[in-house]
Amino acid sequence: MQFARPEHWNLVEESLGALSEPYGLEYWREKDARHEFPTELWDALGENGWLGVSIPTEYGGQGMSFLDTVFVVETACRGGGGSTLSQLFMATPVFGGETIRRHGSAELKQKLLPGIADGSVDFCMALTEPDAGSDTFATATTATRNGNGSFVLNGQKVWITAVPESQYTLVIARTTPADKVERRWQGLSLFIIDTDTPGLTHAPLEKVGTRCIASSSVYFDDVEVPEDRLVGDPDMGWRHLVDTLNTERLVTAAGCLATADLALKIASEYASERVVFGRAIGSNQGIQFPLAELKMRVEAARLLTYKAAWEYDSGDGSGTAANMAKYLASEVACDATDRAIQTLGGYGLSTEYHVERLWRDTRLFRVAPVANELILSFVGQHVLGLPRSY
Ligand SMILES: Cc1cc2nc3c(=O)[nH]c(=O)nc-3n(C[C@H](O)[C@H](O)[C@H](O)COP(=O)(O)OP(=O)(O)OC[C@H]3O[C@@H](n4cnc5c(N)ncnc54)[C@H](O)[C@@H]3O)c2cc1C
Repeated sequence: MQFARPEHWNLVEESLGALSEPYGLEYWREKDARHEFPTELWDALGENGWLGVSIPTEYGGQGMSFLDTVFVVETACRGGGGSTLSQLFMATPVFGGETIRRHGSAELKQKLLPGIADGSVDFCMALTEPDAGSDTFATATTATRNGNGSFVLNGQKVWITAVPESQYTLVIARTTPADKVERRWQGLSLFIIDTDTPGLTHAPLEKVGTRCIASSSVYFDDVEVPEDRLVGDPDMGWRHLVDTLNTERLVTAAGCLATADLALKIASEYASERVVFGRAIGSNQGIQFPLAELKMRVEAARLLTYKAAWEYDSGDGSGTAANMAKYLASEVACDATDRAIQTLGGYGLSTEYHVERLWRDTRLFRVAPVANELILSFVGQHVLGLPRSY
């Protein structure tokens, strides 16, 4: 792997910096307070081609690498949204773009990739269920073939991000009962469903952070889906989904790195200016050292995130580095935002200084899209060769 920073990233920083200027920390503070979707910024990113970075040029995208996507997400999120904005990059460019680019039929690519690339089409993904979070193979939503070749879906999903804004959802459903498959991972299939299909309803959930993007329960009540909306092979959905989940982890890591950068910047500036007992608090090693240590952890997580993206681009589908990057980036983002609050003292809890929002929002990523305990299990078992724990 080359460690030289690609030259075109300077241009990405310049262009995205200018685009993000009106949508900085204040913009996000207001959106959060009003529980309002960041429509203006999301539209601007779409119209300027930033959602189609790794979509092939023949479908209107930029035809660049996923490493480039990761850098774009990180840079865009550093404008002020942090990991909250990264959730939207997971939804449309990953759940829609990466899934269809890697596993969709020629018709699905033609129909949907151009709209993802130009920002006119938005996606969400309905995977998690009330009794199937970490354990995807416990998925109970069913997709049954009816007489005319279509599928009929029934079941419930939970915590689904950005449903109200999405025209399409990627849905994971069981096409063969769990007791009829040879291997646990078999029997699941992927579908692309219009969110306004009769029988599909959704309702928002109350939650702690990421308040400007809805998370919803989604219900499927005899939802009819044409056969051409199946992605990849029936019953092999898990195998296809792995690419989507690995790139989701990379985008999560990118957003968390941006959050950590924002938190450390706010904390360092404050600590340089705030005078207590006649001197800047940042001159105390008790304030300075934790921030310096966090900065080193952020840079290490950043390198691993880029390496993981490079591995994905090189065809390594194992996801080991993507899992590790997600773990390290989410842990350091949570620690950095917590430390930023401590550095600002009482003002850290004021909405005026933004770190409380970054802290609230980034806490999610220790749990989602995969809980960090599950990553520890993965590394223990698959990297260290320890006995399987579940
Ligand atoms: C705001 C928000 C947005 C979300 N957006 C989406 C979305 O858009 N689409 C979607 O499909 N899902 C989404 N999710 C769901 C998310 O991916 C799940 O919450 C996550 O995968 C964890 O599943 P769970 O909540 O069911 O926890 P559980 O699986 O019930 O786990 C609970 C706890 O037990 C731990 N645990 C479980 N098994 C083990 C074990 N063997 N060893 C050690 N620890 C273990 C877990 O690590 C976790 O800490 C979202 C969640 C939230 C909160």
